[in-house]
Amino acid sequence: MTESGQPFPGGPDLVLEGRFGSADERRYHLVPFSVPPGCRQLAIAYSYTDRIDSDPLAGGGNTLDIGLFDPRGTETGTPGFRGWSGSHKDAFVVGQDWATPPYAAGPIADGTWNVLLGPYKVGPRGCEYRVEIRLDPCLPPLERDLVRTGVPVRPVLPQARDGWLRGDLHCHTRYSDGDSWPSEMLHAAAEAGLDFLGATDHNNVAHHADYGPGGGPLPIVVPGVEVTTYGGHWNAWGTDRWWEFRDPDAAAVERAMREAAASGAFVSVNHAKPFGPPWEYPTARGFHAVEVWNGSWVGLNSVALTFWEDRLRAGERLVAVGGSDTHLLRSDDPDVRHSRAPGNPTTWVDAGGGADATAILRGMREGRTFVSASPAGPQLYLDEADGQILVAVEDGAGTALLLIGDNGTIDARSVDSASWSTSCALPGSSGYVRAQLVRPTGEVVALTSPIWLG
Ligand SMILES: [Zn+2]
Repeated sequence: MTESGQPFPGGPDLVLEGRFGSADERRYHLVPFSVPPGCRQLAIAYSYTDRIDSDPLAGGGNTLDIGLFDPRGTETGTPGFRGWSGSHKDAFVVGQDWATPPYAAGPIADGTWNVLLGPYKVGPRGCEYRVEIRLDPCLPPLERDLVRTGVPVRPVLPQARDGWLRGDLHCHTRYSDGDSWPSEMLHAAAEAGLDFLGATDHNNVAHHADYGPGGGPLPIVVPGVEVTTYGGHWNAWGTDRWWEFRDPDAAAVERAMREAAASGAFVSVNHAKPFGPPWEYPTARGFHAVEVWNGSWVGLNSVALTFWEDRLRAGERLVAVGGSDTHLLRSDDPDVRHSRAPGNPTTWVDAGGGADATAILRGMREGRTFVSASPAGPQLYLDEADGQILVAVEDGAGTALLLIGDNGTIDARSVDSASWSTSCALPGSSGYVRAQLVRPTGEVVALTSPIWLG
């Protein structure tokens, strides 16, 4: 078995075939099949016509996502969910002893299983699919091909203010469409100088066990999931379960976000910008934060910033977070939409001196965050004391500081030294103040969450 689409040796025991038309696009379908008693492993491969990449820039053909449910059920949150691999694994194994990431190993109960098929894109000629299943093929597990091993070498970076930690809140591994293992992503994040890493593979949480808690020479792991719907993506951090992703209707997406938030998770809307893929739920509420900065700033993040700012002006108290969305650490595949560097951008969180995921999540919930272009900064601290707005900037010389409220720019000052601070009176009429550092070219290099006034 390979991940590159080679069929299983020996031929299938079961074949599921069908066709999706344009009316099926972006609607998940369950395709049932029977597993007899005594099975210890299933090997599943699938193919479909007119295949195109899942990249939102690609069109004119088909992209078919796949997942798997065992006989325990198919409803939201069920332990019967054995995994979802989007369109990036043509073949996978689920067995009692091992499974292809992100699928969950465990007992192979007899009864009715369901393949979950999601025609993300359906081209003009429709999508004919074929799913081949082998029962109990006794395949051995693949060897783990680690490239990054050993103790990571941390760079020397400017110190953060006491209690603050720097990290990256968004990345992908082999547990979804990344090319590296969790230990390798942690290694790369450590070598970028990060203190924490948000682990956010798509529509799974099986990566959490592989990551472990991190810490020590490695970044602290903030366990999460990128809930990946056909109308937009949202992150939940501080959760150990999968959240409903199959229903793309706005009400269902909002319901799932609210359920995740009610369970204690911290929830953000991700890459709300063209080709992010974008966020198609302008009226949905129920999230704590907006990923205002995904990958390089020039990758249309000004659109995500506007999405956030429109909501701030409407009185919504939304925290700013950023994420590199790193997928590829080793391959040369073109991936113009995502950063290849953890920490590009970096989210800084006031963890109050704590050094675990709970402290980081608390700081995020309190809105004590800023986002910078890289792990080296610039650092941008915004505080309020005694009727004054206090701003401190490290390593931001040559930029302009903008203080922005709900009526636009309140103040602008040039940052002319490496360690720079300023203060001004609280604006009387604004509901909030946030700070932003901008290069003369207009490129944003740091921005803070708002301080709420009144
Ligand atoms: Zn995403």
